[in-house]
Parts: sequence; C-alpha cells; structure tokens
Amino acid sequence: MPKITVIGSNMYELTTYTDHLPHRGETIEAQDFAEGFGGKGANQAVAAARLGADVTLLTVVGNDYFGRQQQQNYTDNHIHSAGILVGHQGSGVASIFVESTGANRILIVTRANNELTPAVIDAHLDLIKNTQLIVLQQEINLVTNYHVIEMANKYHIPVMLNPAPANLELDINYVTKVTFFTPNEHELATITGLPTYTQPEIKAAGQTLIDAGVQNLFITQGRHGVLWMDQHHSEQIAALPVMPVDTTGAGDAFAGSFAYYYTAGAPIGTAIKLANQYAAISVTRYGTQTAYPTKYEMRKMDL
Ligand code: ADP
Repeated sequence: MPKITVIGSNMYELTTYTDHLPHRGETIEAQDFAEGFGGKGANQAVAAARLGADVTLLTVVGNDYFGRQQQQNYTDNHIHSAGILVGHQGSGVASIFVESTGANRILIVTRANNELTPAVIDAHLDLIKNTQLIVLQQEINLVTNYHVIEMANKYHIPVMLNPAPANLELDINYVTKVTFFTPNEHELATITGLPTYTQPEIKAAGQTLIDAGVQNLFITQGRHGVLWMDQHHSEQIAALPVMPVDTTGAGDAFAGSFAYYYTAGAPIGTAIKLANQYAAISVTRYGTQTAYPTKYEMRKMDL
C-alpha cells in the first residue's frame, strides 16, 4: 500500500444555495443548505485514501461539534487518526454561498488550523520520516510548510507543494526544495508576476520557475489538462474531455490522486494522466469530497 502523509488544513463547509444574495442589512430566505467536509489538506488526503493509499493526515480540528464531525469523516475514509489533533479553538469553517447561476462566494476562517505550528511538526517527526511522499498546500502558515520542507529534505522524503491559495510571500528558495510544485495558471501568475492568459504565456512563466531551479512543475489548467515542465523537457498532458457540473475541489482531486498514483509506482507522466482522469470525473459530480471517486468506481469506468 503506498504510504502518504498530507500536512494541512481542514474546514467544515456550510453551504447555502440561494436565488440571489441579500443586500447589506437585508434578510432573505434561501432555497437549500448543506454541511460538508473540506479544506485543501483534508480534500487531498481523502482523494488519495479513496484510491487505496495508506494516508496519514496531520491537521488540527477544532474542539467543537464540527471537529468531531471531521474526525468521524476521516475514520469513514480510512485515514489514520495519529495526525488528527484537536486544537484549543473552534474548527476552521468555510461559509459558502452558491447562487442559482452556479457562481459561488466563499469566506473561510482558519481558526484551529493556525495551531499547526513548526513545534507541532517537531512533535510528529515520525509522520515525516516514515512515508513515501509528503503533500502540502497553503491553507496553513507558510513557516510551518517551510519547516516541513526542511525536515523532509533532511530525511530524503519527497514533497509535493500545491501552492493554493496563492500567497505572494511564498519563498522560491523553498519551492526549489520540493520534488513537485503544482500551481494552477492563476497561482502561477501570482507567483511569477507574469501574465498566464495564453499557452505561450503560461509556458514562459513556467520557464522562469524552471530557470530558478524548480524540479517538477505541474501547471494545472482545468479542461486543458496539465503542462509538466522539468529541467529537461516540457509536455502538455491532456485532460479527459467531460461535461463539468461543479469544478470545486478539482485541484485537490488532482493533487491527492497524483500522490496516490505516483507512490503506487507509476512514472510521473502516467501518474499525471491518471490524476487528470480522476479530477475530470470529480468535476462531473457536485460537491468537493462527495465528488471524489473510489478505486472501485475508477476501475469500473472504461477510460
Ligand atoms: P483548480 O481547482 O486549482 O482551479 P484546475 O481548474 O486547474 O484546478 O483543475 C485541476 C485539474 O482538474 C485539471 O488539471 C484537470 O485534470 C481537471 N479538470 C478541471 N476542470 C476540468 C474540466 N472542465 N474538464 C476536464 N478536467 C478538468
């Protein structure tokens, strides 16, 4: 069983579906409501676990009802409990408002996620040493990610960093220390300060990161798939053509499933192709984690 450690965020999602949003000071009645599990770290862990990876998630849930629901969700998805810590604050929450057009507005409050500090990493070094791949995103403090990268380098464990949400302060000196760096085209624009509207622009922006020493760059581009660049080549790996209904969490589906396929032994290009398929299936379904297929569902599809 491929062994993966995801270090990152969890969020309890509170989604309201409404025809339109209220004006300031106004109260209106909305049509529907759903609770759900999210947070980029948790999403990526769930995607990898549903495919059959042995996943440890190092995350801090809140000391509240939402935190207990999250713990049950990790148990249900066969994620090890050793890294699920309970903080002193309330859980990270995402208040999501979806209009009938499908447009969404999301407010996140990170709360207990802020308790995932470098000291917590030091107290759980066994989770870094005993794994095949460490997976990081950017919904926890950058200094924590930097510390994880240093420790992982020390123990020669590869790291995948998904720089979402984009953070202007991300230090390139740490980016060159990870094996896989996976921005989407918008995050690439933020990181490089260059335009990424066209394919030549995306490639030129990516090349600046390769020139700076980035090892493997996967630029995810929605329905256009992924541009993989390394020090020796660049290659566009096509998406699976599908009719999307909800693209929320597609980037997390890609990252989590790539982690699984790569640690299961697939060559990088093959793992990207399979992760593109996994993420494409997820956009044909509603929700975030609810949209992620299991290994049995993937096998049944004749892709
Ligand atoms: P993010 O969720 O970070 O914006 P992307 O939109 O780049 O990420 O999507 C991540 C991956 O999900 C893509 O590389 C692709 O594999 C898949 N994907 C996303 N949207 C589509 C789509 N419309 N059709 C097929 N695959 C998609």
